[in-house]
Amino acid sequence: MADSAQNTGDQQQIHQRIQQLRDEIEHHSYLYYVKDAPEISDAAFDSLLRDLDKLEKQHPQFFDPASPTQRVGGAVATQFDPVRHAERMYSLDNALDLEELEAWMDRMEAHFGRFVPVVCELKIDGSSIALTYDHGSLVTAATRGDGTTGEDVTVNVRTVRDVPLQLSKAGLQGIVDVDVPIEVRGEIYMSKASFEKLNLQAEKEGKPAFANPRNAAAGSLRQKDYHVTADRDLSTFIYAIGNDAQIRATSQWELLEWLKSCGFHVNPDVKRCETRKEVLDFCKHCLEMRDSLAYEIDGVVVKLDSFAQQHELGFTARAPRWAIAYKFPPEEKTTLLRDITIQVGRTGALTPVAELDPVRVAGSVVARATLHNSDEIERKNLRIGDTVIVRKAGDVIPEVLGPILSLRPADAQPWQMPTLCPSCGSPVVREEGEAVYRCVSLDCPAQAKERLLHWASRGALDIEGMGEEIVGRLLATGKVRDVADYYTLSEADLTNLYMDRVNKEGEPIVLGETVGHKLKEAIDGSKERPFARVLFGLGIRHVGKTTAEMLVKAYPSIEALTQASVEELSAIPGIGEVIAESVHSFLANETNQQVIARLKAEGFPLAEEAAEVGEQPLEGLTFVLTGSLVESGLTRDEAGEKLKALGAKVSGSVSKKTSYVVCGEAAGSKRTKAEDLGVPILTERQFLRIVDEGGIPSDLSA
Ligand code: NAD
Repeated sequence: MADSAQNTGDQQQIHQRIQQLRDEIEHHSYLYYVKDAPEISDAAFDSLLRDLDKLEKQHPQFFDPASPTQRVGGAVATQFDPVRHAERMYSLDNALDLEELEAWMDRMEAHFGRFVPVVCELKIDGSSIALTYDHGSLVTAATRGDGTTGEDVTVNVRTVRDVPLQLSKAGLQGIVDVDVPIEVRGEIYMSKASFEKLNLQAEKEGKPAFANPRNAAAGSLRQKDYHVTADRDLSTFIYAIGNDAQIRATSQWELLEWLKSCGFHVNPDVKRCETRKEVLDFCKHCLEMRDSLAYEIDGVVVKLDSFAQQHELGFTARAPRWAIAYKFPPEEKTTLLRDITIQVGRTGALTPVAELDPVRVAGSVVARATLHNSDEIERKNLRIGDTVIVRKAGDVIPEVLGPILSLRPADAQPWQMPTLCPSCGSPVVREEGEAVYRCVSLDCPAQAKERLLHWASRGALDIEGMGEEIVGRLLATGKVRDVADYYTLSEADLTNLYMDRVNKEGEPIVLGETVGHKLKEAIDGSKERPFARVLFGLGIRHVGKTTAEMLVKAYPSIEALTQASVEELSAIPGIGEVIAESVHSFLANETNQQVIARLKAEGFPLAEEAAEVGEQPLEGLTFVLTGSLVESGLTRDEAGEKLKALGAKVSGSVSKKTSYVVCGEAAGSKRTKAEDLGVPILTERQFLRIVDEGGIPSDLSA
């Protein structure tokens, strides 16, 4: 009995860790792919993804088809029309060093019984693009998006000078049937020179700079106004085709030749290799010549040359098995640590930040880097005045690795965490077992700002336009102190809000009618967000989006949740004691209770309607979704969510326990398996009836 309780506890902890990793990864994917503004390094991101992948493989019972390990890229921004790719766009698996690359080559060799030829290409650090040509004319350009659906950026891509609007005659001859549109793929990128020019300009205009050329390319491509894209000097390298059966080429090498003949810009630094040594030498050569290129690369992509062999190996959920991206090792530079300053976050955490002599690392200039906490500073033995090594893993977020002790000035002193909050002057505390010091004052303006921004952020209440500058001004003028204050603002309050800037004539700028009106509408609109999003938006420590959903599922109203004890909360699957404590103490806090009461008075229902009624008509049923849902245009994830909302479980694989398999267009092996096992099959239309009618119609019940 005790053993089994222990076991259940362990399982819960693992599930919780998996959920936390998924939340964290989703959050960073969103910042990266949608906002083009990552907060953590690629290396850190990849490491989180690897941790999650490992845990999911060890504990397949927690498999979820919506997990970031099963998906490509990130969300699709809503400002563009969605485009469904004719064939899925995949990501690539990574080899983080030459050893991992060799291990991949071992696997290929074991499979084919010999080394089979590969094509090595530069891994261009840009943004994926898919170009569709109908009878030789460019008709659509789309981003990769989540791999199945991308964003329609055709008007913007038409301004990119090296994208042919029309394929050449020679190219058309290589197409099997010109009546069928073809989709070619490649990378859209910004040269190092254009990137620097763009950031210099941004600096002059007081606008935020792009972190690196990759984010600059992705951001420039996804502009609402195509004139802006046209000014950004983007270029492309094209290297793939959606469906290789549509052209006469039979290998990657021939494909590249054909792409060139069509008029595409194909990267000249490619090599067809017939031995391992050639591959390894090519990778080393690319690493050496990396700095001399006019654009950024972050590795080498190795692909099996023969299409037939590629087909034999196929794809995993997110990447081809027949290709691997060898990623270059991180780049390191040295610079001076001038100062260590403190940033105060939403939950009051004090984060020390290294202020560095600006230095160019991996494509961008680094002047600041987070040092995480005081233990980290002690562990790394850092002192102000040190010459330090700074690393960027071919990406965005710099890391201070440590000091060069021989260069330490004689008078450098060990660093001390301040005892008072630099924002509000209250004493800071460090809870037992925590690495972080916190300002626990409820009136700390730095925390208030972060909390207000979090509430307005897209994953939470999604108040479009409520950015850093406006929140800063609302706080400074005393109009807003907490999230409930947003809802007391009148349109005039917003329209007449003074910004901290002056116009050309030296007069102070106000927000103005157009923006003020839109913002007021966005604030009012946010009252319609579901309870789980509100709970997430409150910024309770350890409560990410998924955790908020789990809490709401178990306690569908704020009253029920507030009354739940720590023991009751930690009995929810996936919620451990730390989260339970955090939720409980947040809801028990009087100031927070007042904010919640005011939100309620403003018209927030703070309850989940469907769950409150207790309607779970599909409870106990397990669904599997396969194929494309063309009629509704839903992704499988979205369709799965609809079923889950009615109480169903959604699984990724068909077994005897499956209740129904929903088969969209081009459903493959899962359909066959369902037929073999006698599991009832539903068409997309039948699935839509279930969703519409909120249960299984009597003529469909198994
Ligand atoms: P990826 O960049 O590692 O590799 C896949 C992509 O490489 C392809 O989609 C393609 O666009 C590109 N590519 C460039 N040259 C190519 C060539 N010659 N042949 C084939 N493909 C080529 O994978 P990804 O899925 O695009 O993005 C994941 C990357 O983004 C990782 O490096 C990850 O660390 C980073 N990321 C970082 C954060 C963050 O918060 N820092 C968040 C999300 C993703």
